[in-house]
Amino acid sequence: MRLRNVNAPFSFAGTKRFALAGARILASRLPYRDAPVDRDGFALTDVLIDEGRIAEVAPAGRSDFGDAPKASLAGGVVLPTFVDAHTHLDKAHIWRRAPNPTGDFEGALKAVAEDRAARWTASDVAGRMDFCLRTAYASGTAAIRTHIDSIGAQTRISWPVFAEARERWRGRIDLQAAPLFSVEFALDEAHMAEIEAMLEACGSNILGAVTYMVPRLSEGLDILFALAERKGWDLDFHVDESADPAARSLGVIAETAIRRGFPGRILVGHCCSLSLQNEERQPRTIEAVAKAGLSVVSLPMCNMFLQDRQGGRTPRWRGVTALHELKAAGVNVMIASDNVRDPFYAYGDLDMLEVWREGVRILHLDYPFADWAPVVREAPARAMGLSLESLRPGARADFILTRARDFTELFARPQADRTVLRDGAPVAPAPDYAEIDGLEGLS
Ligand SMILES: [Zn+2]
Repeated sequence: MRLRNVNAPFSFAGTKRFALAGARILASRLPYRDAPVDRDGFALTDVLIDEGRIAEVAPAGRSDFGDAPKASLAGGVVLPTFVDAHTHLDKAHIWRRAPNPTGDFEGALKAVAEDRAARWTASDVAGRMDFCLRTAYASGTAAIRTHIDSIGAQTRISWPVFAEARERWRGRIDLQAAPLFSVEFALDEAHMAEIEAMLEACGSNILGAVTYMVPRLSEGLDILFALAERKGWDLDFHVDESADPAARSLGVIAETAIRRGFPGRILVGHCCSLSLQNEERQPRTIEAVAKAGLSVVSLPMCNMFLQDRQGGRTPRWRGVTALHELKAAGVNVMIASDNVRDPFYAYGDLDMLEVWREGVRILHLDYPFADWAPVVREAPARAMGLSLESLRPGARADFILTRARDFTELFARPQADRTVLRDGAPVAPAPDYAEIDGLEGLS
């Protein structure tokens, strides 16, 4: 069976029982250990799919699967679905109506604040969020954590929109959300009462904030930790998104977690300035992060866009955190999308294969590539408390099929012709931008 359609090289329309023949799957993800492995760590595998579930997995050529039609993948790399641990679905796709003319962090904060106050109604947020989810689903993502700007009246507008989207997407994309506000707001009792009530009402169990080196940082963190401890919630912080080595709130978060013996999960994002700290301080901070059990998510595309940007001067720094050193210290590390077509990042498409591809280039997540494959699936799932299905009979037949035959072919092209199978059936392509012209202020 090798049917073609316009969008993808593989087509399975209407086929309930079929085999993927000659799929290149990372051997570390297979349920057996006796298959020959190539130099990238892949093993040629046949997978029988029946009624949306995996029926059998075997080394290539070992089983004939009876009369099931076979799709020959010709050694193409087959990936499991992605997990995207750090996004901003409420901010996405506002670039046209809220551009960031300086392209830096301060310009982004200002542009978003103005647009949020003027235009983030429930229907505006819902429309852009749904566009994001359809885009992510089309590219092969099965779980997303988003941050939700939670300041003033916006909290009451955005959270019910998120809760509705989470229910609508249940079974296709696992959705989580954390509130986003500056850590100083933790000192405002009325604000915190509203955050607690809204998370409770919307069934969310992740508290979050942006940390800056403000004088009352420790006090604000203790309030957030105490609330999370009382409710049994996890924590998720935006941390040190700055080129200033004096931005060291990562160490303060780690010390707070250690001092309090915090029992939940903590995910910290960005941590850009860590990579600019001196050779004495950086290892000490990383040691504390490892001891505290923090997970770290790097946002390579957004960091390279915003960091080290000065008009008329060529950037010298990629903006990313010390991800290799963190991984070597045993820290759970990952990469994620962050912003999409908004003032913090003008590009992006909630495509974790793009994030992985760019992560390989920006952060050198290669040699060996396979060692870093968990950064787009297993590591974020652990940080989010998700249990992933492994590749075994009975599991949902969720796969991303490509024509690449090794990692360099995989990352050399954008894999725009990939086929995403969910429950054994191909999913629709990403929606057209024209659908959100109205939301972007074009009509
Ligand atoms: Zn972010």
